[in-house]
Amino acid sequence: MENRAHKHSLISRGVGILSVACASFILMSAAVEAKGPLNVSAQEVKQISLTEERIQSVLNDAYAKFKDNQDGKNADYIKALAVVDSKIFGITLVTADGKVYEVGDTKEAVSIQSISKVFTAAKVIQEKGDKFLQEKIGVNATGLAFNSIIAIEQHGGSASNPFVNAGAIQSTSWVEAKDSKERWAKIKTYMDDFAGRKLPFNEEVYQSEVNDNKRNQAISKLLDANGRMGSDPLEATTVYTKQCSVNISSHDLGMMGATFANDGINPLTKKKVIDEEYVPHILAVMATAGLYDNAGDWLYLTGTPAKSGVGGGILAIVPGKMGIGVVSPPLDKYGNSVRGQQAAAYIIDKLGLNPFAQ
Ligand code: GLU
Repeated sequence: MENRAHKHSLISRGVGILSVACASFILMSAAVEAKGPLNVSAQEVKQISLTEERIQSVLNDAYAKFKDNQDGKNADYIKALAVVDSKIFGITLVTADGKVYEVGDTKEAVSIQSISKVFTAAKVIQEKGDKFLQEKIGVNATGLAFNSIIAIEQHGGSASNPFVNAGAIQSTSWVEAKDSKERWAKIKTYMDDFAGRKLPFNEEVYQSEVNDNKRNQAISKLLDANGRMGSDPLEATTVYTKQCSVNISSHDLGMMGATFANDGINPLTKKKVIDEEYVPHILAVMATAGLYDNAGDWLYLTGTPAKSGVGGGILAIVPGKMGIGVVSPPLDKYGNSVRGQQAAAYIIDKLGLNPFAQ
């Protein structure tokens, strides 16, 4: 089952047979991720006091422990991602009250890719309410690859959740706007509001992907044929491709996560970005579907809602407490950053942050 999903996801990302064979070998050794027992027991968690020294020293340890791990491989089905420096490794933790702890290449940026789906879903829930997101797009995991077409057919012609490509393109199409230019501007501004700064746009990644996104176009057409799109399907796919091409650093991800943790208010700018009542719904979908086909393993290990992207970013949120952003481009077989998961899981464990262990 797992192997089939792996094979399916790689093939559907347009990787040739030979590279599938090579990649399988490299990636099998990268299957570290969300496995293994917690090191800190549930009893110990209750004793941990989160002093500034302790937080910074756990981040430093995570950086030192995983910095030389070369497992995994940059995504290459989007050509511009293959050439990103795979050594980049930045870790940032931002608390709900805006204190920043960080180590490594925390200003180095990669394209946000799938993590953007969180913010577009947040925009839709903010504009149209929680029932709309649940009923029109869905909130269930597919158990299939992120760009699966079978998943659409199996779920009545709709996406199952806003974090697979189908659901993200659907979300994009439902953002209220008079045309696609305004829709893109609103989505971009919304991401900026979460980050507390104007995020740069990666033109190179955009050009690389927009000329190679026929599968996403096909997905949008299928959704449209089933009456699921709120605007022109191909225009929505282009806007979706743009949102994936926004650059973020681990610092940005930490801040974006802290905005959710701070009841939807950016701790830096103090701007209210999303209503407090919607935050738990977005975090719930992150918990069920944030790490592709490995979301269950991640939740089992850390208990935290998280979202990864094929650019190498990962954002984990400790509800009401903090956002943890890690950037490291090499991915495991599921498409999740290898060192990103290792560092975030280590920090969550050592600081006793698993919400289910409180
Ligand atoms: N833009 C990417 C795609 O549509 C995002 C995929 C991802 O990060 O999972 O294929």
